[in-house]
Amino acid sequence: MQTELFDVIIVGGGPAGSSAALYTSRAAQKTLVIDKDPHAGALGMAHSIANYPGVPDALTGMELLGLMKRQAVSFGAIYRNDKVTAIDPDGPEKTVFTVSGNAFRAKTLILATGAMGKSSEIPGEKKLVGKGVSYCATCDAAFYRGRAVAVYGKNREAVEEALVLSRFASTVMLLCPGGKLAVPEEEAELLHRAENVEIRYHSRVLSVNGEMGVESLSLEGAVDPLAVEGFFIYLSGSAPVLDFIGGRLEISSCGCLKVDREFMTSSPGVFAAGDMLCKEIKQAVIVAGEGCQAALYAGKYLRGTTIHRADYH
Ligand SMILES: Cc1cc2nc3c(=O)[nH]c(=O)nc-3n(C[C@H](O)[C@H](O)[C@H](O)COP(=O)(O)OP(=O)(O)OC[C@H]3O[C@@H](n4cnc5c(N)ncnc54)[C@H](O)[C@@H]3O)c2cc1C
Repeated sequence: MQTELFDVIIVGGGPAGSSAALYTSRAAQKTLVIDKDPHAGALGMAHSIANYPGVPDALTGMELLGLMKRQAVSFGAIYRNDKVTAIDPDGPEKTVFTVSGNAFRAKTLILATGAMGKSSEIPGEKKLVGKGVSYCATCDAAFYRGRAVAVYGKNREAVEEALVLSRFASTVMLLCPGGKLAVPEEEAELLHRAENVEIRYHSRVLSVNGEMGVESLSLEGAVDPLAVEGFFIYLSGSAPVLDFIGGRLEISSCGCLKVDREFMTSSPGVFAAGDMLCKEIKQAVIVAGEGCQAALYAGKYLRGTTIHRADYH
């Protein structure tokens, strides 16, 4: 049993967790960040980030994460590579259990394990994530200016993202797995009006093909592969990573962790931030802002005050 008592343990070292670590460590709170693998997080998978404020030259998600970590470490945050398997969130001292058999204790926890796409398991998908396979047109559409792309899905997200892509790509092929889009008629109408969008119903993608990037899709019943450079998948959405919670914290009706307006979960002293919370827009800048807020509210909890202290001295 590890006996050192931290002020804050942050579970997850993505943009939400690392931003929280920057604020807690800079406030002189003894901070431990436990992250199982930065490559496994959403930002770690992103091949090019060009919309993070203050970072004008596009860089990979891993490079951006490296900068965030460096900044937090410069103020004293400790990063540890380990997978959290369970937490005990009750009482004044919380415990975090990891797969390596350790148990870490802290006065507060900030959970920031993100959300992961439910695997659709198309052959080739995993290999080409970040190399043409994407789950976020808002993030990546600008990289496909003048190129042919395909969107796979029939839900509202697929339709909205196809419209986003139509402003950049030369052609957008919307591959609908069924005979009808699952959106109101007026939304489908927007797609019909976009000149460079074509909808192919009853489409089933058998594989995503390419070595260094997406080159084509093999479709059921089609002789020739469909040549595209980008493939955006919206089959099953993403789900918050909550497997280590073990029913110890309240979950909202939409399946994400429940927090109050101060980012505190149902257990006092346990905060959460980032894509593991319900949100319509998943972007690094948004979750970094949430990490900051969770950290400042955790500081307020640690001081036992009701007064929030700003961090701009
Ligand atoms: C392919 C792709 C491209 C994107 N492009 C952009 C973009 O261009 N611009 C933009 O702003 N946003 C982009 N996004 C969205 C953005 O990356 C996410 O909104 C953001 O990363 C969410 O941050 P987070 O810290 O909540 O979670 P994550 O970034 O997912 O980080 C969670 C971390 O927690 C760790 N973790 C999970 N479970 C455990 C556990 N049990 N124990 C320990 N550690 C654990 C993970 O390994 C990971 O490091 C993109 C997303 C994807 C998937």
